[in-house]
Amino acid sequence: MGECIFCSIAARKAPAHIVWEDDVTIAFLDIFPLSRGHVLVVPKHHVDRLTDLPREHYPAMLGAVAEVCRRVERLSMDYNVGVNQGALAGQIVFHLHFHVIPRYPDQPGFPRKRDALDPADAQRLVEVLAHR
Ligand code: 5GP
Ligand code: ZN
Repeated sequence: MGECIFCSIAARKAPAHIVWEDDVTIAFLDIFPLSRGHVLVVPKHHVDRLTDLPREHYPAMLGAVAEVCRRVERLSMDYNVGVNQGALAGQIVFHLHFHVIPRYPDQPGFPRKRDALDPADAQRLVEVLAHR
């Protein structure tokens, strides 16, 4: 498998702004967010795609996605939840991840050029999203 960045984040060997974690899943801010508060929810156990996820992890996975959605609603009640599977679908990181992408009235579309996550704002977002 070599270096998988999301495995490294899950193992706490690579840094991330973590907003949720349990035994099976971890969620953290996207480093090139499509909008403010863009979160990735991933299984800690490496699988490329949803159809590789062990069935016993389905409840924890969906539960984590729903929990992150509940927290993202602190930022906006409007958001997209999505999974890109395969290169043609835009998958770049081949470790399953659910995007939760808040939508805001002043930003009707996704930006063509994505700015890197601002560290100071990331800290503020963790304060908003990481608590129950
Ligand atoms: P995909 O296109 O594979 O569905 O999405 C991969 C996402 O992971 C992208 O939105 C990208 O910005 C994000 N990403 C890539 N590398 C890293 C990283 O090292 N840390 C974090 N937090 N996000 C990453
Ligand atoms: Zn991985």
